Amino acid sequence: MGGGLETGDTSHKEDLVTIYPSEIRTFAYCPRLFFFESWLGKKARASDRLRALVGRLFHALWSLVDKIRGFKSESLIETVLGGVRLRGRPDSYLQVGEEVVVVERKSGRGPVRGAWLSDVLQASAYALILSKTSGSRKARVIVRYRRGSGEFSMSEELVGKLVKAIDDMVYVKKHGVVPAALRSEPKCGRCPYRMPCEELDRDLSVGSDLYEPGSWLSRERRALEDTGPG
Ligand code: SF4
Repeated sequence: MGGGLETGDTSHKEDLVTIYPSEIRTFAYCPRLFFFESWLGKKARASDRLRALVGRLFHALWSLVDKIRGFKSESLIETVLGGVRLRGRPDSYLQVGEEVVVVERKSGRGPVRGAWLSDVLQASAYALILSKTSGSRKARVIVRYRRGSGEFSMSEELVGKLVKAIDDMVYVKKHGVVPAALRSEPKCGRCPYRMPCEELDRDLSVGSDLYEPGSWLSRERRALEDTGPG
């Protein structure tokens, strides 16, 4: 199936906003970073390029293992939800009876328990597309790290977070609304947009009542604990 396009109720209206699950991951990591990458393009440092190469090798190896186990790998899938075209290539997925199982692999280290919210939302977006295209009523996502993994049922709560993230991303991608900055020294210290990001905050009016897309993410736990098969 690799390379084929599996679609749901896909229309080809010009005004659809295309959102990729990998962008949802970036948005959950830092909404402001998603804004810069959407409007200024992705910037990669030499260390990022090396990390990306290691990641590609890691994925190629596991893609082979998953294929041997009967999973589909790296197929392009998409569906339309309202005004959004959701499109991407899950690492691996499998239909088990009524249930869709998505496996997302990350070459980095995960949290002590479970998985990072950003990774779970990315995998959940693939599961949402596959649920719509296959008509499955149940879905489960597994995020595997170099060491450890987390497994999650697609609960209403998880789907709610995913839809909220997608709604906010449309404000950013279509209307150019500046979203919240989720600052932390480890993240901002290696961010190629640190200078413009800090300048932007100086320029934005202090005490503004305007809604900042993604501001709710600062209240979310950054790591989710497993729910297991539901
Ligand atoms: S500098 Fe920090 S807050 Fe700003 S975009 Fe980069 S990671 Fe996000």
